[in-house]
Amino acid sequence: MTDAIIRFDKVVKRFGDLTVLDELDFEVKKGEKVSIIGPSGSGKSTVLRILMTLEGIDGGVVYVDGEPLWHELREGALLPAGEGHLRRMRSKLGMVFQQFNLFPHMTVMRNITEAPVKVLGLSRKDAHLRAEELLDLVGLADQAKKFPHQLSGGQQQRVGIARALAMRPSILLFDEPTSALDPELVGEVLTVIGRLAEEHDLTMLLVTHEMRFAREISDRVCFFDRGQIREEGTPEELFTDPSEDRTREFLKAIL
Ligand code: ADP
Ligand code: MG
Repeated sequence: MTDAIIRFDKVVKRFGDLTVLDELDFEVKKGEKVSIIGPSGSGKSTVLRILMTLEGIDGGVVYVDGEPLWHELREGALLPAGEGHLRRMRSKLGMVFQQFNLFPHMTVMRNITEAPVKVLGLSRKDAHLRAEELLDLVGLADQAKKFPHQLSGGQQQRVGIARALAMRPSILLFDEPTSALDPELVGEVLTVIGRLAEEHDLTMLLVTHEMRFAREISDRVCFFDRGQIREEGTPEELFTDPSEDRTREFLKAIL
């Protein structure tokens, strides 16, 4: 597939004796919204963490936007990537974490402007203006001066989304963005993610247990199990007529 913006080519990832990704092949097209579902420990977060270069790999190649992520092509050979290459590749992706991961000692505004100023070299003023737009987008225009602990979990996660968007990534990764939230706060976060999913150009990869939501926003759903994609298809195919027993069992247990 030539229009893949993310491609895992026989990627192997081990932690000691444990093989978490076992020659994983996986592709996401530009602008596609893909949900990853599957049991705990199946390697879902690892896939996202590898894309964010938070974890290395032990075999295979990961391509982002047509270029190897963890390698550089030098004189026809794939060699380990240097820091400059990694930094450039990293700027293509943003991630929203389960536990929000906001800087606790910084205001909401500062949480959003810090990386654009430090990493992208934006002026404070430009970063501030952009942050105001993003806070408006996630419905938090009046919370800029607060600190994370003064916000609800749902508000903190919406700041997390604004912070990821501030780097203008073309790919946005979500790792169970609502699992740490009280049930009554899940909706406001899903509403914001749903709004982003309408953006044609943004590629989204979402690990979630919110099956109804995954069904609504995804172009494709992948069922992960023991480091492999066991089944994938449109939400319709996967949720109403799964062909694998493992998928059926998983869905029965979770729904
Ligand atoms: P999931 O997100 O699907 O629940 P993960 O990708 O977090 O799964 O983890 C896959 C497996 O790798 C799990 O068995 C987990 O315990 C293990 N694992 C993840 N990170 C590490 C690590 N840093 N060190 C050792 N084992 C890890
Ligand atoms: Mg996980």
